[in-house]
Amino acid sequence: MKTRAAIIESKGGDLRVDEVDLAEPGPGEVRVQIEACGICRSDLHAIDGGESVRFPAVLGHEAAGLVEALGSDVAGLAEGDRVVLSWTPACGRCPPCRRGDVQLCQGLRMSTGGEGPLTWQGRGLDRFMALGAFSECVVVPARMAVPVGPHIPATHACLIGCAVMTGFGAATKTANVRWGESVAVVGCGGVGLSAIQGARIAGAARIIAIDPTEERRAAALQLGATDALDAPEAVQRVVEMTGGVDAAIECVGKSQTMLDAFNMVRPGGRAVVVGLASFADTLPIPPIMLLTEKSLTGSIYGSANPALDFPKLVALYGQGRLDLDALLSKTRPLDEVNEGIAEMREGKLTRVVLTF
Ligand SMILES: [Zn+2]
Ligand SMILES: [Zn+2]
Repeated sequence: MKTRAAIIESKGGDLRVDEVDLAEPGPGEVRVQIEACGICRSDLHAIDGGESVRFPAVLGHEAAGLVEALGSDVAGLAEGDRVVLSWTPACGRCPPCRRGDVQLCQGLRMSTGGEGPLTWQGRGLDRFMALGAFSECVVVPARMAVPVGPHIPATHACLIGCAVMTGFGAATKTANVRWGESVAVVGCGGVGLSAIQGARIAGAARIIAIDPTEERRAAALQLGATDALDAPEAVQRVVEMTGGVDAAIECVGKSQTMLDAFNMVRPGGRAVVVGLASFADTLPIPPIMLLTEKSLTGSIYGSANPALDFPKLVALYGQGRLDLDALLSKTRPLDEVNEGIAEMREGKLTRVVLTF
């Protein structure tokens, strides 16, 4: 079938919305009519050449939509179901999947290298994170389409597919924040604000948000942070305020903020790195520091099992406990994708969501 997608032809270029060809869903696949797709920082990173994307490509990996057609051998989904797309394939067969660490599935790919159902002018298009959801329709494995019920708007549901799961899960699953604990969140974009909400819902007594941008600190306080700090001297301030937090969650992606997170946790505390560093970055930590039994761990996709965790987040939204309105700054139609990307680059908005 013909559909329309936003194509990026080369590093740093503008996206161009054009007609593309989409194959019918094969065995175990579904076609999803995309209703909404957030513009995530990783998409900006991919445009800048910081991800393993093969151009021409279709970006977009934070999406919700309606199941429109089923291939053979698909169970548990029906036409018309609202789904949130997951970017972990959850193959169920590799060693991490079999031991329950679905977020570490060995089938996870940032790039499909032009293989797959999407072609443009006779060439295969790469689909970022194996989704390529800046497109009116996608064909994906059914396991990557998680049904979430009709009671959440697509503009909100899509956020669960990347930023919310990543941040909320980093706090509640990777850092395992427990009631009464103190938590610092470094970087208050969509992921950091979701980590703050995870810490709040887990019962953290003190949540310190750290961000250089005033708008983001204000959003953090609105979503459950008890304190908000500008970035300079944050480590010293956090230690003065708490004696070192039980857990710190880094959502920026720079080695300095990762070090800060490590340095602001108490002896025995947990530092969790969520932000995406470049391959060249290193982290200079004196090993003697490890005698304090601090832990430093990474977190991908909030250690999520999307099939189980997406519906839980939707339930928290339905109960009014998870605020998604505050994360959704603005919507724009697909044709205004370049304007949306420019707004996300300015760094003031939490999320611009494309609608279809
Ligand atoms: Zn993302
Ligand atoms: Zn797997």
